Amino acid sequence: MKKFYIKQIQSGDRVYHLNFLRLALVLLILIALVTVIVLAVNIAKTRAKKAEAAEQARIQAEEEQKKADEEAAQERQRQEEAARAALEEAEKKAQAEEEAARPQVEARAIVIDPGHGGEDDGVTKEDVLEKDINLVIAKMVQQKLTEAGYTVVMTRTGDETVSREDRVANANNVHADLFVSIHQNMMSSDSSVRGAETWFSEDSEKAKELARDVQENLILQTDAKDRGIKSGQEMYITENTQMPAVILECGFLSNEEECALLTSTEYQQKVAQGIADGIIQFLEEADLPASQYQF
Ligand SMILES: [Zn+2]
Repeated sequence: MKKFYIKQIQSGDRVYHLNFLRLALVLLILIALVTVIVLAVNIAKTRAKKAEAAEQARIQAEEEQKKADEEAAQERQRQEEAARAALEEAEKKAQAEEEAARPQVEARAIVIDPGHGGEDDGVTKEDVLEKDINLVIAKMVQQKLTEAGYTVVMTRTGDETVSREDRVANANNVHADLFVSIHQNMMSSDSSVRGAETWFSEDSEKAKELARDVQENLILQTDAKDRGIKSGQEMYITENTQMPAVILECGFLSNEEECALLTSTEYQQKVAQGIADGIIQFLEEADLPASQYQF
């Protein structure tokens, strides 16, 4: 066995023998260790790469999802915009059709004045307030005249306090063609008194014509007692408007039966129809100068 010894190392009393077999074994173990380490490192690297790839794939998927979401949102927005445009187009078309269907009449602006309002109740019968009835009828008249193709200017559209000076000044300022004030009457001393009457300014022949037409149609529609057209009493509105003006007293709240009628929608519609018919009749026959109102 001596031939395998490559060296004998003397160290004190002991002799160490290094031979090829031992060296080979040590080398093998070292190689194995290195191999294991290299393998382990490789596995770790592969895992890290896989994890990185997975992370990248996740990020990419997220980005793709985000992009898809954005595109979907954009598409939704496009669709909404298209729908809105279509709706606007349809509205415009409907408006044009409505305008085309509106009767072609001479352009006229009519002030409809619901008497009283706000702090001023007008005449009252228990919980029935003149200002409320006036407003309801006035709005009905407004609708009928608008449908007939005329322009209506309301002195009030809600329960507001408006002075008679303002009502008249506004009508004069806009150069309206007619002024029709709507009221209810009261006769506390005699509850049997009933019926409709129309007031006008004595010095206006046109106002008298208007009063006659409105009174006639009002009676025709409602069958109310005809108390006729009246003048002589100084009334601020009829004296100060620059256009033909009338004040309508549709009926008496002090008369129980008429009060009940005046608070019913059906009768109010008849009153409004009579007033609108009278105004239209007047406008068609009166030969007024061209309107100065800015339509
Ligand atoms: Zn009144």
